[in-house]
Amino acid sequence: MENCIFCKIIKGQIPSSKLYEDDDFIVIRDINPLYKVHTLIITKKHIASVNEVTDGDSEIFRSLFSVAKKIAEKENVNGSGFRLVVNSGKDAGQLVPHFHMHLLAGEKLREL
Ligand code: AMP
Ligand code: ZN
Repeated sequence: MENCIFCKIIKGQIPSSKLYEDDDFIVIRDINPLYKVHTLIITKKHIASVNEVTDGDSEIFRSLFSVAKKIAEKENVNGSGFRLVVNSGKDAGQLVPHFHMHLLAGEKLREL
């Protein structure tokens, strides 16, 4: 997608702090971290939000939680705990219309 910031990161057109990459996902550090550990697990496919996920995407999403687990281990927060968040749409405050899951950790998180 043209003009999508995450598509540009995936293509290497704008820099990012990349932690992990496989066929389906790229994981980067959030540019504006809310917690000591704040990473974004981003689909390589441009999917605007959860509303746009189709059954055909099930292969992609099959590994989403195992990628999250790998990142938690890599960031050494698997023991202390972490939160996974997917904002979808306006009321959730979704800023970037390209599927991503936040992994938040590294300190005590505010209650939901
Ligand atoms: P959301 O509100 O779920 O759409 O979150 C989008 C997140 O992307 C925010 O936490 C932003 O700080 C983050 N973000 C926006 N641009 C970049 C970028 N170029 N590199 C890393 N993170 C970004
Ligand atoms: Zn995109």
